[in-house]
Amino acid sequence: MHLDLATLALLGALQALLLAPLLLVATRAYTGVARTSLRIWGVVLLLQALGWILAALRGQVSDWLSIVLANGVLIASYAETTRALRLLLGVPQRRRWLLAIGVVIWLGIVWFGVVQPDYRMRVDLAALMVAAYSALLAWPLRHALRAGGSIAQRVMLLVLVAAAVAWYLRLHELHGDAALQPGHLVPTPGNVVNMLYSAIEPVVASIAFLLMYNEFAQADLRRLARTDPLTGTLNRLGLDEAARQRFDDPHGLAVLMLDADHFKAINDRHGHAGGDRVLAALARCLGTRLRPGDLLGRIGGEEFLVLLPHTGLAAAAALAEDLRAHVASLPLEFDGLAQAITVSIGVAAREGTDANADALVRRADRALYEAKRAGRNRVAGAACPA
Ligand code: GH3
Ligand code: MG
Ligand code: MG
Repeated sequence: MHLDLATLALLGALQALLLAPLLLVATRAYTGVARTSLRIWGVVLLLQALGWILAALRGQVSDWLSIVLANGVLIASYAETTRALRLLLGVPQRRRWLLAIGVVIWLGIVWFGVVQPDYRMRVDLAALMVAAYSALLAWPLRHALRAGGSIAQRVMLLVLVAAAVAWYLRLHELHGDAALQPGHLVPTPGNVVNMLYSAIEPVVASIAFLLMYNEFAQADLRRLARTDPLTGTLNRLGLDEAARQRFDDPHGLAVLMLDADHFKAINDRHGHAGGDRVLAALARCLGTRLRPGDLLGRIGGEEFLVLLPHTGLAAAAALAEDLRAHVASLPLEFDGLAQAITVSIGVAAREGTDANADALVRRADRALYEAKRAGRNRVAGAACPA
């Protein structure tokens, strides 16, 4: 079977060209990191298309185009691939590293391309580039997979392994046979495998990317649906879910129900928008006193709930008292203004008689009512259910 490698390269480029606009148009529906990564992937496909078209024209256009520019854009596509995937994996992009690797390898390829032409050195450098960028992906992927991982992450790892095998075969062949005719369009077995892989890579890698992207977007939506936009803490849905998940924890669960005292007066003084900023400052202030693992959320209005896993009534009451005293001891700062504020807190720890998390929260709510009735700026513990 005779395969024309230039045609294969052009087929790969064509697929990338067809996919790129789809992804770039889809970015309109998203925001934030998801959108950025999708946009980067669209650009990656355009770079791949350009790179492979130029590479397929080797011998028909100048080496400056088919070697220097082709390798430059292909290196950029690998760097951007790494950036997009690191974004989705939630690790720093390392843009300087990506740029440094790309520039050094590209300069090497320019040297061995037009100054002192050496095909084997160029292929070695390209393989080194792929290895370096793959390592920057494989490392966080390995961490993610160790922590459980997802199907999409496994698929992406497979794509990396496939690329590594294709490159290994090419290098093995190139260094194993000194008489080998050099040139990436010469249809040796190693070159054929490598070019076949390169031709399907735009589609295969895009599928893996879109699976990862979909998981990321879903997780982002889940997080957003459970976040209170004013304070950035959990909202009622997030709190309900977390309380239900932790309710049966054998190490116990306590809750604090917290309400700002005389908040109407604060709204009267600063207006509703000013009051909102006081609430955000209050949430920040509370957050600084909590332990790792404690969960703070806003139920609504000026009421907050704190979930305290692995905590009994005495420890919960002590933490509530610490929160109350801390809030009372300092004015909250917002917009260059200072506002004194106090909170009342109801405490309840899980008892055998609590049927579910709602029952536990209801007892904390009743304790809060007691704290308000007793004069505010105080902590009240929930009586055991009758
Ligand atoms: P206390 O709890 O000590 O009894 O007094 P309070 O003034 O805080 O009383 P209450 O709970 O009855 O009223 C809460 C007030 O909080 C009513 C409303 O003006 C204000 N409030 C509720 N939700 C918001 C909100 O999202 N933003 C702002 N700025 N104010 C809110
Ligand atoms: Mg209040
Ligand atoms: Mg209230």
